[in-house]
Amino acid sequence: MKLNSLHVLLTYQCNYECDHCFVWGSPRQSGMFSLAQLEDVFRQALAVPTISEFYFEGGETFIYHPVLVKAVWHAHDLGFRTGIVTNGYWASGVDEALIWLRPLRDAGLDRIEISYDPLHGNPESEPDDHPGLEAARRLGLPANLITVDLPTTYRDPESATPGEPLVGGNVMYRGRAAVHLTGGLPRQPWNLFTECPYEALDDPGRVHLDPFGNLHLCQGLVMGNMWERPLAQIIAEYTPQTHPIADPLLAGGPTELVNRYDLPHEDGYVDACHLCYTARATLRAEFPQFLTPDQMYGVS
Ligand code: SF4
Repeated sequence: MKLNSLHVLLTYQCNYECDHCFVWGSPRQSGMFSLAQLEDVFRQALAVPTISEFYFEGGETFIYHPVLVKAVWHAHDLGFRTGIVTNGYWASGVDEALIWLRPLRDAGLDRIEISYDPLHGNPESEPDDHPGLEAARRLGLPANLITVDLPTTYRDPESATPGEPLVGGNVMYRGRAAVHLTGGLPRQPWNLFTECPYEALDDPGRVHLDPFGNLHLCQGLVMGNMWERPLAQIIAEYTPQTHPIADPLLAGGPTELVNRYDLPHEDGYVDACHLCYTARATLRAEFPQFLTPDQMYGVS
């Protein structure tokens, strides 16, 4: 497996509750890494030679800023590249943003990505003078904005590279987006979604790890649990052909997932993720260890 990047969901909690959030981030969410768990993850990652990078995501990473600083420092100290994704709520001004960012720069952070778009409550234009970007520039810290378009249509699957993180463009309709944002949008016939356009389910280059130990191939689609089996073992034993959800998705996309388990469905869906997420939600009772945790399916 070519897995090179672990994206740690530091917490499911967020100070916002955006309609397009894949992970149902919310102030009411639960789940937060302890420092001891993070140290265990870094130690286990050292045993997997292909892993060279940690990204820290959420939820909102900065609501646990002291833990985030310690996590970046520890990962950097062990030789991993590090990045952070944040909604930038803390960047109320450049001077204030410098206070938040300087400890992270000093801890060895390599990159920060700040969500800035109407879906996060920001104006539609991309500001060149975003206080977080300006503060990062002054600190010599590489930074960029992630801007997701308002949901008017579906993402062009041809524009996607499976396994690459979201950096902009249209919404993908999984998580809360599949429930909150699909109403009134144009739909395509359910049997046309014959491949997963966005995730390399057979050989992922990056996976997400949540505070419950779940390793996610896609949000809510789990390949194993690090609190139950070592990371190196999960990777070595992962065979997509025996995974009850990844196998049909690789064989024929969300359409095959519906066919394989003879699931009820509507005539059309906004995109492949909309059908996939909806189908997976109906299969949770049958495959609880692969379609978890409740947080990813909006169950509080
Ligand atoms: S929701 Fe399904 S179709 Fe969409 S990226 Fe994830 S696994 Fe692929």
